[in-house]
Amino acid sequence: MVIGLSLNTIFDKVAANDRIAENEAFFLFQNASLLELSKLATIVRNRNADSKRVSYVIDRNVNYTNICNIHCTFCAFHRSADAADSYVLKLGELEQKAIETKEIGGTGFLLQGGVNTDLSWDYYLNLVSFLNNNCGIWVHGFSPVEIQHMARINGLGLENTLKSLKDAGLGSLPGGGAEILVDRLRQKIAPRKGGAADWLEVMEAAHLAGLRTTGTMMYGITETIPERIEHLCILRNQQDRALSRKNGGCYTAFTAWPFQSGNTAWNAKINEPTDVEYLRTIAIARIFLDNFPHIQSSWVTMGRKTGQMALHYGCDDMGSLMIEENVVSSAGTTHKVNREEIERMISQAGFEPWQRNNLYNPIIDASKR
Ligand code: SF4
Repeated sequence: MVIGLSLNTIFDKVAANDRIAENEAFFLFQNASLLELSKLATIVRNRNADSKRVSYVIDRNVNYTNICNIHCTFCAFHRSADAADSYVLKLGELEQKAIETKEIGGTGFLLQGGVNTDLSWDYYLNLVSFLNNNCGIWVHGFSPVEIQHMARINGLGLENTLKSLKDAGLGSLPGGGAEILVDRLRQKIAPRKGGAADWLEVMEAAHLAGLRTTGTMMYGITETIPERIEHLCILRNQQDRALSRKNGGCYTAFTAWPFQSGNTAWNAKINEPTDVEYLRTIAIARIFLDNFPHIQSSWVTMGRKTGQMALHYGCDDMGSLMIEENVVSSAGTTHKVNREEIERMISQAGFEPWQRNNLYNPIIDASKR
């Protein structure tokens, strides 16, 4: 029990729209019931989003290559260049995926890949330009480790690399690879991926370039609860800086999911987090990240029922239909649905569904006009 803190004082603070501190978030982790967390998270959720509506996006995860030389211990997706099942997608394959996506009313790709040293800077520019300009696809693309790789091979520096990608057609950046932004842990789970400062430097450069990004957290990989809170605090501080610039660059949303250890070096060596822990974590994220407009439910990793429940623990967005997913599914279970099913999931949870784009603006479905 932390001296001088109580649920009542934290409740009053949240109700008064005062920011909670790190020790208060820790107190909630230790002491609040699920019901109390749901109530507090819903207050902050409704301050940031329409209380009656929940959004979703139709896109697909496209992994343009699985060749990667970073070798994160938790990754079951990457391959060496000489592996029989290694690949780099061809433009024709990407075009076919774009056609399929648009046929069902989809708007974008979550485009990520491994750090493949055979790919040139021109490859990335052409990839983004082809998808955006030729295929009409919004590119929500590249995790910080990929951007760092590009900046290394082009010598332009992070900000100019991001500006060039933006000029070529990059729409926004996913926050992949954040895991837990604490170096003690990163050194243990992904020693070749760079520290927290490296990940944050790319996000800062993206915000400076006027790009929107998302914040993520993969938890349940031996981090402590204070380290989880430290991660949230780092993101909140960076969002404060981004919003103060007023140049359009900032975080749009946060999402968290538990580590899945299947087919990784951690298999059978770790107790995977429970659904209850997911709900507690996402609710505390919603309460703590008071400057993030949206929180996504990770139903793709948690399953439909827990994904629906997360809508009552601070989430105002159901994320993607997940037409295609390769990374998490390499390590465990993922779930996919069609438009009708995701809308039914949202309705059954008590909300009105609406389709958004990657900037969280509404998409008008021509078939419903
Ligand atoms: S998580 Fe990303 S960077 Fe790490 S090994 Fe897998 S593909 Fe490479």
